[in-house]
Amino acid sequence: TETVDMDVDVVVIGGGQAGLAAGYFLRRAGLRFVVLDAQDDPGGAWRRGWDSLRLFSPAEHNPLPGWWMPRQEGELFPTAGHVAAYLRDYELRYDLPVRRPVRVHGVRDAGAALAVDTDHGTWHASFVVSATGTWDSPVLPHYPGAAEFAGEQCHTVDYRSPERFRGRHVVVVGGGNSAAQILAEVSTVTTTTWVTRRPARFMPDGVDGRVLFDVATRREAARRAGTDAESVSALGDIVMVPPVREARDRGVFRALPMFDRLTRDGVAWDDVAWDGVVRSGAATGDGAEQPCDVIVWCTGFRPTLDHLAPLNLAPDLSPDLSPTERVPTERVPKTVGTRSVDEPRLYLLGYGDWTGAASATLIGASRTAKPTVSDIAERLRAS
Ligand code: FAD
Repeated sequence: TETVDMDVDVVVIGGGQAGLAAGYFLRRAGLRFVVLDAQDDPGGAWRRGWDSLRLFSPAEHNPLPGWWMPRQEGELFPTAGHVAAYLRDYELRYDLPVRRPVRVHGVRDAGAALAVDTDHGTWHASFVVSATGTWDSPVLPHYPGAAEFAGEQCHTVDYRSPERFRGRHVVVVGGGNSAAQILAEVSTVTTTTWVTRRPARFMPDGVDGRVLFDVATRREAARRAGTDAESVSALGDIVMVPPVREARDRGVFRALPMFDRLTRDGVAWDDVAWDGVVRSGAATGDGAEQPCDVIVWCTGFRPTLDHLAPLNLAPDLSPDLSPTERVPTERVPKTVGTRSVDEPRLYLLGYGDWTGAASATLIGASRTAKPTVSDIAERLRAS
């Protein structure tokens, strides 16, 4: 049987795009490392999206370091399955030491090293790179009455395809890309209601992943130069991919404000006079109710950081820091670049803009992984 070296320079937690980009540079730097990934198969979050999920830009705009994503035959914007296959091939190509399924329960200070406790034993490392993404931490807001609702509730992570909703009335909650894309396709098979906490902001047609990345890049350059530049969020929230454009043209995107509570049979608003529209019940002060069979919560994710709890990292309380804008209560550890301030042997990769501009994208993963590994290599040499 193979012996496993449990004593390494670097443990990378998470084998999605961010963890693999780190692995590429660690391999090049000749360091001893392992990538621990909780899933059974390669592909990170790309294995978990819905069936029709696609990249926001063509394959050639989504490279990991060293090897470009091959085009997908017949598809300009590759599917999630194609991206997962690219990640699988990428691991093989660079012979990255990914161990799965291995779930990390905790990272703790073990004196000279960091100890990484898992369901397959404890690794010791001089440095830890946490790249666990967000898909393990769906956000489900609490509304009164949730327990009484007799229908089905699910989150973006549970959604695969619209077929099983046929003939049932579906309420989709959320104003981001997941909500827009899921609403667009569910509305092709059944009736829907859309609710958002604030008015939805659609990007202009023609803005795709290429434009978003260019804007993020210019913004980052401006930030370094101490000047101002347009932010990606100034363009809107929702990318007008073809199914979303088509749904818009069908008149699907008429959003109601967020409901106040769930009832046994649906969702209900206490105050029903909005945008000049008064719904039934308003006159009697009873509010309004929308019966439904299914509620799909497209309410986002927070970074998966539970395994860092033993390190007791202080939260970053900067008011302007919003890793997932739709989760204003989010708290993340303080970082300088990708390195933790409280535990300088820990780096955080790929979670969002707080770990580097566009770091949660394929092309951006490489940008933050490279300086992270250089920093680690330099500090190992110095020690
Ligand atoms: P992940 O891919 O989630 O990988 C993290 C890995 O860590 C997972 O395998 C997980 O199982 C593992 N893990 C978690 N916890 C542990 C633990 N305790 N121990 C061990 N392993 C653990 N991105 C783009 O680049 N381009 C796009 O066009 C794009 N479009 C998108 C469209 C939509 C609608 C959505 C919702 C997302 C889109 N994304 C896009 C973003 C993309 O889905 C994710 O942001 C990206 O996959 C995150 O990569 P990651 O490596 O950080 O995390």
